[in-house]
Amino acid sequence: MGATVKPAGKLINAIKRDDPIVKYEGEGRAILRQVCKPVAKVTEEYAELAEVMGEIMYASNGIGLAAPQVGIMQRLFVYDAGDGLQMLINPSIIQKRGAQIGSEGCLSLPGLYGDVERASHIVVKGVDQFGHPVRLRVEGMTARVIQHEYDHLDGVLFIDHADPETLHIVTPGDHAEDDEALEA
Ligand code: ZN
Repeated sequence: MGATVKPAGKLINAIKRDDPIVKYEGEGRAILRQVCKPVAKVTEEYAELAEVMGEIMYASNGIGLAAPQVGIMQRLFVYDAGDGLQMLINPSIIQKRGAQIGSEGCLSLPGLYGDVERASHIVVKGVDQFGHPVRLRVEGMTARVIQHEYDHLDGVLFIDHADPETLHIVTPGDHAEDDEALEA
């Protein structure tokens, strides 16, 4: 790296620049199975972290990205289910009802897809990247992506919930049938 790299927070420095997303292979298996720790204090660094994680997520065509997927073992994630980038820190899902089944993939398990049953409606609370309290009542795809990301914070992956008969690998370039799948 050159001498003109601008100073960044410690958390952001921990993200690998060339290949930021931790895959479920090698040492990544242990990382993605850890239970993350709550964020003790939402400092100014988290607003920048939200932007950096958002860039990584969009660059990978994902709609969600949890901190452990970039090697940060803290309870937070970003998502954008069509209403803009949102970060949730120390989230808790306080209500769940209904059910929905849909295809999911994971940026940490590239090419693998399967059907997962999730609650159709949830209420989640937490704080955003500025430390402001957030309480959201959401449904459909937004509820799905939040449940997928929340699981990552407990070391749970979509393959743990997926209907095994629907799990399948799609090779790059042959993506058409999973255009509707959540990728997070
Ligand atoms: Zn995932």
